[in-house]
Amino acid sequence: MAFNAPQWFSDALTTACADPALDHDARWPRFLDPEYRCPCCGIASPGLIDMAFDHPDVWPHGSLGPTGEPIMEVGIDRLTTDLCRVKEAHFVRCILPVPIRGHDGYFCFGPWALLAREHFEDYARSTMEPYPPFEGCEAVLANTLPGANPREPVPCLLTTAELGSRPALFAHGGPIRQAQEQGITLDTLLDIYAAAGTDLRGHLDADPAPEAG
Ligand SMILES: [Zn+2]
Repeated sequence: MAFNAPQWFSDALTTACADPALDHDARWPRFLDPEYRCPCCGIASPGLIDMAFDHPDVWPHGSLGPTGEPIMEVGIDRLTTDLCRVKEAHFVRCILPVPIRGHDGYFCFGPWALLAREHFEDYARSTMEPYPPFEGCEAVLANTLPGANPREPVPCLLTTAELGSRPALFAHGGPIRQAQEQGITLDTLLDIYAAAGTDLRGHLDADPAPEAG
């Protein structure tokens, strides 16, 4: 893993990997196959990709990604692909890994985390020469993930990663912790993809028709 995980998450990965859930699920290889096209509509699976968020939910100035610019600044508010400030609130872009039952690996959300200013500054320093160590800190999830209640704050542990990799978030409780601790099924993963705009549900059920000729 490119990030430092708490022991409970490493254990969760081991347990999820041993789950036979995907052994006889013909949708899984189709889901991973970049060549797969649904015979009914031709939809392709993007495979196992991160579900990234352009900015924290409270960022009020629109998306950075489509502008192609490395930074957006409005007054004291600023947004890059990795760091964000909205008034006096400071955010870092993270990953939030979730084991997939039956798979030797995990799915990643790419949300933002709200940090105390001192931790934000320590983190930002740790990404620049001479790369002083950053020990991780407490943080709060700053995006509403599919299926979560937007009014319920999700306190997390933020852990460090290898140089050049994003830090990782591990929820302390609630439905996100449950997903990280117990793993998710392929059906839940497909619900997440659907919420993000790629609805593969019902389109992984059949092999593509053999090509004519
Ligand atoms: Zn289809």
